[in-house]
Amino acid sequence: MTAKVIYHPDYEELEKNSWRYDVYDELFEYAKDIGLEIILFYVFDALPTELWIKFPDIRAEIFLYHGITHCTQKGKEVGDKLLKYSLKRFKTISSHASIAFEGGGCNCEYCRNNLADLIVEHLKFIKENGNSERLFFMTWFANIKEYFDVPPIKGLRDQLFMKLPKEVKIIDITRKTLKMAIEQGYEVYDFVFLIDPEGGLESQMIFPKPHVNLLKERISDSIQALGSNLKGMVGYRVLPKTRFIDDYALGRYLWNPELTGNDIISEVAGLLSSSINEKQSVITAIQLLEDFWNSFDGNKLKESNKILKMVITQQKEVLEPLKSIQEATEILYLLFRYYSLDSERVKDRIVQKIYRSMREMDTFQCYASYNVWDYRSFEMIKQRIGWWTDQGIGLFNPQTFPWNSHLKGKYNLVDTKEDAFLWMKGKE
Ligand SMILES: [Zn+2]
Repeated sequence: MTAKVIYHPDYEELEKNSWRYDVYDELFEYAKDIGLEIILFYVFDALPTELWIKFPDIRAEIFLYHGITHCTQKGKEVGDKLLKYSLKRFKTISSHASIAFEGGGCNCEYCRNNLADLIVEHLKFIKENGNSERLFFMTWFANIKEYFDVPPIKGLRDQLFMKLPKEVKIIDITRKTLKMAIEQGYEVYDFVFLIDPEGGLESQMIFPKPHVNLLKERISDSIQALGSNLKGMVGYRVLPKTRFIDDYALGRYLWNPELTGNDIISEVAGLLSSSINEKQSVITAIQLLEDFWNSFDGNKLKESNKILKMVITQQKEVLEPLKSIQEATEILYLLFRYYSLDSERVKDRIVQKIYRSMREMDTFQCYASYNVWDYRSFEMIKQRIGWWTDQGIGLFNPQTFPWNSHLKGKYNLVDTKEDAFLWMKGKE
């Protein structure tokens, strides 16, 4: 639960989030019915912006983002109250996780000097008030906090791994941090960030990237490097439908790491099709898409889209998420053409085409559903086309890819601040 979604009935400013908790109730019930384990995930020191404005005295002396974090010391009362409400409200959930440093944190002298102890207390609070049976802690960028531009907290990870109870399970993106945790006897979970490296760049989340072979490599590599203390892997998704293929691949590899890339493609194609012929076509389309991201051969992308479109046209009842994958592939192809061309006149026509296509597509209705705001909607999409095709941070700069952006960045392993931000900047 991030600052944005937190609700508490005592604060009228948070009334706007009340409906979310009702939805979560239903969602958790449904998930339980189909046998899923829910982990209630909380952000350390999260403070809804509305309360950040309301209580200026408790604001964090911030590093990173501003306006969504309270000082652990000054905001303790409000912070604990919010957290306690959520834990009690969702009391049927017995697995909890917390993430520190996401969204920043407080850099005041007290918080800096006591950070490890404050995190231990915070986890204890969750365990007690949530009756946690399983408790995860995402050290997330603790390594960067050791070296960040703000005065560093040297040896933060050593402190954490000395003080956190051994039953706490450690999640991190960083191989070195996970190894340090293993040395101290913790079970670890590897965070496979590459399937959704949003970094504020929505283009990295929206468009289909099967990553079937990369995920296989990445998971095998982690198993080899971390051994039996590696208990699982974590991925997450902001926009699920268009990225169904790599989500599915991650889940299946975790279930059975022996599966090959072709096994996965065949399975996922089976789920997205309603006949043997269709399945064969979808297999080809996925393989072409996978090839495109390695070769930047626009013909492969064009062909992939053509096949997907043909399958959808043939289907009596169009299957989701195939429809979303096809629509996103179509826009991706137009973006690649835009990126590859020099003629401003043709580029303008492509912008128009992308806009018109998005308006017809359910997948992109959030960009194009302004109705009476057509002009504004067009301008917004136009701006995004600029971002998505940017030479530096855009979709088609190979340096932003997990497999060749950087020596360590091959798997988006992040050991230093430079590793973390290199692929976001897309340049050395
Ligand atoms: Zn503080």
